[in-house]
Formats: sequence, C-alpha cells, structure tokens
Amino acid sequence: MIKKISSFVEVYKSLIKIPTISSENKALDHSNKNFIDLLSNYFSDLNFSIKNYQISYTNKFNMLASIGSGTGGILLSGHSDTVDFDEKKWTKDPFTLTETNDRFYGLGTVDMKGFFAFILDVISSINIKKIIKPIYILATANEETDMSGARHFIKSTDIKPDCIIIGEPTSLKLINAHKGHVSYSIEVIGNTGHSSNPDYGVNSIEIMYHVIQALLLLKKHLKQKYRHQDFSIPYPTMNLASIHGGNAINRICSSCVLNFEIRPIPGLTLTQIEILIEEKLAFIKKKWSDNRIFIKKLFFSVPAYECSHQDNITKTIAKLCQLNRTTVNYCTEAPFLKTIAPTLILGPGSIEQAHQPDEYLEKFFIQPTKNIIGKLIHKFCY
Ligand SMILES: [Zn+2]
Repeated sequence: MIKKISSFVEVYKSLIKIPTISSENKALDHSNKNFIDLLSNYFSDLNFSIKNYQISYTNKFNMLASIGSGTGGILLSGHSDTVDFDEKKWTKDPFTLTETNDRFYGLGTVDMKGFFAFILDVISSINIKKIIKPIYILATANEETDMSGARHFIKSTDIKPDCIIIGEPTSLKLINAHKGHVSYSIEVIGNTGHSSNPDYGVNSIEIMYHVIQALLLLKKHLKQKYRHQDFSIPYPTMNLASIHGGNAINRICSSCVLNFEIRPIPGLTLTQIEILIEEKLAFIKKKWSDNRIFIKKLFFSVPAYECSHQDNITKTIAKLCQLNRTTVNYCTEAPFLKTIAPTLILGPGSIEQAHQPDEYLEKFFIQPTKNIIGKLIHKFCY
C-alpha cells in the first residue's frame, strides 16, 4: 500500500470547491490553474510524475500524471472545466459538495470533476508498486468551449497507451460512438434599392431561397446516402437554425444571413461535408459570379467518433465490465484522443444532470464505478 490520501468525500469536496468554468463569455471564463495544481498535488502524493501544459495564449492548463514505465497501459481522462451556472435556478451552492437525498450535489459532480475523486480513491487503495504497464491520468482544459485542451494534448504527447477511457457521465454505460457537430453561416449579399423597381437592385432573400433549396437537397442526400444503425436517428441531420434579412418594407433586401448545423455520423468526415456544401451551392455561385455568397464556419467543429465494436479493446472492456456498448448524441473529446489509442466513454452519473441546475451524482454509482476503474487498471497495467 502507498500513502492513503484524504477520504473520497474530502477529495470530491475539494475538487468541486474550485471554480473552473469555461465560457465563450470572457467575464465568466475562469483559469483552471488552481484546480490543476490541486490535482497535480494529489497525484504527486501517490508517486505519479506530473507534466502540466499551458494551452497557448490562454490561462488554461492540461495535466498529465503518469506512473510506471514502458509501452501500453491505460489512460483515464476527464475534462477539468465545467459550464457556467444559472444562479437563480440553483437552490444549492454550486461550489460546495452537498450530500443529501442519497446524492452529491455540486457543479461538476458528474460533468465531470468528480471522476478524478474516483480515480484517486481507487489508486490510493491498490498496490501500485506491482504494475507492469503505465497508468496515465489526463485532465484537459476547455472541453466545454473549443476542446483546445484535447486538441493541444494530442499534438504534444508521444504516449501510446493500449486504451483510453473518458469518464463522462454515461450512467456507467459503455459508449463507443457519437455523432459530430459542425455549424455554418451563409451570407448572401445583394444590392439595395427602392422596392418600386425590383431591377434597381439584387434581392438577397431571393438568392437565399435558392441556397435553402440546395441545402434541403443536401439534407435529403445525407439522409439517403449515410446510415449507421447504432444511432436512434441513424443518419446525419441538418437543422436550419436562424435566418435574418431585410430592414424596410420598401427597400430591396441587401443582406440575408442563414445559420445551420449538421450532425454527422461516423463515416462522414467534416471535410466531406464541406465538399458537399460547396458542390450543392456551386450552380448558385456560378450564376452570381460577382461573389455574392459567403460561407463561414461558426464555433468549433467536432468530428463524429467511433471505436468499432469489432475492435479488440471494445470487446475486451465490454466483457471485463459486463457492459453492452451503445451510442450517444452529445460530443466528447473522444474523436481527438482516439488518434492516440482506442478510446471509449464510460463514467459515473447521468448526462441528464450535466449542464443542469443542482447537478448531482446518485450515490448508487459510487461502488460500481470504483469496481470498474479497479478492474480496468488490473486488466491493462498488472
Ligand atoms: Zn463533460
């Protein structure tokens, strides 16, 4: 046995206490440095080596803790940040771990700072001196915004574990695939003029009408051409989300903007989507040769992800933990981490509580989660 750190609840409490909100709104965005420092100290007390990386041009950090040498082993991964919270809707202090109704309440209890309390508890109770393959623990920054922590990590590391587990709240279901997400804005620029003579100008709403027709054809094409039976909606979806144009009833509309999103299934890449959009809009662009149609990506896109169920790692973990694999509709860091090693998503708590006021972890997840983490470490590192 190595040094036993504080109790599970004490550690859990200390992790929830430190705000690590990531937000596009700069006024709400927090550095995660204090959290990463605390986590680093915990793992350092358990004889792990610590490497912390600052994400360029930010006050955000990733932590990689490792113990053991050689190749293979396991990487247990989680994001260190949380979303913002609505003060009016929370009935409890988001930064105080509150134990009541057989639940632990607090921001990040399930999504997902709590996962590190589980890892620390399991590791401090096993004989770590006997491991023959490395254990890696990764805490990333900015998962809730641009996933820059995971993007940065895969570029900066040379580790090659046998498998990666992301402890997002899957209700302890084994997730081996999810859809991706990409969103675009299309602006059509016309020429304004008095509406009494339509020939004075170029009406951007009329051009947008053709753009929407082309996009709806693409939507149909995606539904017909791509299929993945593991998803409840087994094809890529498109949502036309908002449209704005025009400002006066007697003026020819000079600008019209449409925002839309596509959620690809595994097998449809972000590059393919871009090519398909260009193809579908080509005839409109050709007709209006004077550059009237401008497309730009909104936000940061996440590719679809799959760790095939034929993959040995998926089979091994499903059998070891006696779990059936399934898919989810939310995005994670898996498509990035998967470039290093086969990656699966498996963690305590329900996604239903993530990003919600009074986020909580049901206590019945505690023992099964510790058992699963223990089994995984034994399987891949002993
Ligand atoms: Zn999460």
